[in-house]
Amino acid sequence: KLQNKKPSILMLPWLAHGHITPYLALAKKLSQQNFHIYFCSTPINLQSMSQNLQEKFSTSIQLIDLQLPCTFPELHDPYNHTTKNIPRHLIPTLIEAFDAAKPAFCNVLETLKPTLVIYDLFQPWAAEAAYQHDIAAVAFVTIAAASFSFFLQNSSLKFPFPEFDLPESEIQKMTQFKHRIVNGTENRDRFLKAIDLSCKLVLVKTSREIESKDLHYLSYITKKETIPVGPLVQEPIYTDNNNDTKIMDWLSRKEPSSVVYVSFGSEYFLSKEEMNELASGLLLSEVSFIWVVRFHSEGNFTIEEALPQGFAEEIQGNNKGMVVQGWAPQAKILGHGSIGGFISHCGWGSTVEGIMYGVPIIAVPMVLDQLFNAKMVADIGVGLEVPRDEINQRVRKEELARVFKQVVEQEEGQQIKRKAKELSESIKKKGDDEEINVVEKLLQLVKVPS
Ligand code: UDP
Repeated sequence: KLQNKKPSILMLPWLAHGHITPYLALAKKLSQQNFHIYFCSTPINLQSMSQNLQEKFSTSIQLIDLQLPCTFPELHDPYNHTTKNIPRHLIPTLIEAFDAAKPAFCNVLETLKPTLVIYDLFQPWAAEAAYQHDIAAVAFVTIAAASFSFFLQNSSLKFPFPEFDLPESEIQKMTQFKHRIVNGTENRDRFLKAIDLSCKLVLVKTSREIESKDLHYLSYITKKETIPVGPLVQEPIYTDNNNDTKIMDWLSRKEPSSVVYVSFGSEYFLSKEEMNELASGLLLSEVSFIWVVRFHSEGNFTIEEALPQGFAEEIQGNNKGMVVQGWAPQAKILGHGSIGGFISHCGWGSTVEGIMYGVPIIAVPMVLDQLFNAKMVADIGVGLEVPRDEINQRVRKEELARVFKQVVEQEEGQQIKRKAKELSESIKKKGDDEEINVVEKLLQLVKVPS
């Protein structure tokens, strides 16, 4: 019955930027493979997206407003919520509030009758709703296969892979590490529910070139077929042309590979102490930098108060640094030849972008899967993690400065850069095969011959 009709996919990402971006990137790929896409989200998200969705996708990707219960938007207001700005402490409340969208989602399913639903792990109810409407449901994981396995796994002793025989000291380190990951069990229950019986297939934003073993392992613990959709790195959705031009002009006046780009993603806000230490580390290293400072009004301090005295004057005087408040075109910056290092919190999106643009990563992970990704970055040789103080777990300015210099100015940095470039090339080569594989699997699910 479906043979002459384009199969349609309804996609439902979690509301945060780090999820919406890969969902949209996947939507674009699938829409070019003859799927019709319904992209479902809240009005605020859809508005930002519609401004940035190019003309060529205007008919193949249709934006669907979820018509949420009226209490939901009120949650946004006090925190000036946009997809670029969800303070971490508010995430559990938002997840819960979004759960109330299930009836609205069911209405959408009944009206649009899609052939397939692709949903986020934070919304197990989407899989349930699809199942109730006899529609195949596919989970799309926007974090690494390794960290997702970690969140699903109960016993820290088995971590990271059961076949590994880890020495006691390693196990202790891993157990401490697991304790530093907040909300572990809450997420675990939600994630387990999200990939229960109604889930037909698990897609992961990764490549076999980075995570071959981890994908096998994830498949082993979920008992689901698990396939990579590639890194899905693309131009950023949000751009501010004036700001962008200023940054790119500044960068073009710098020597090749001489500048570090500093960003902690869209959800993590540095504390006053962390900002001060980082700024001091940057000054101490004397390396040029672009630092995207994110800030929310509840922090009880101003940027000026957090930065070391004389910081602004010094970087203005020697033109070594640029502080961008709020948001910067990260993908564009990482692709610029003047960038020689990426000081990153190692969110999965940033980690993959660092790898794909061949920029050595200087890992300063803060919470959740970032700790994991940072370890992976060092293991595969595409970056270094800044060691924390053993006693108080702080990152100190001296260590920061040492690693910045090591990556930007020393031979080790060059080696890391070569490794990142090599890996990026092999991922790109494999990309087409991975894409074809995804399309075939999805078509099999909706029983349309490819
Ligand atoms: N990003 C950006 N500009 C910024 C900060 C972040 O374009 O100033 C983008 C970045 O390129 C990445 C995403 O936002 O694609 C952040 O995702 P990630 O998984 O790294 O971190 P999260 O925000 O989820 O912690």
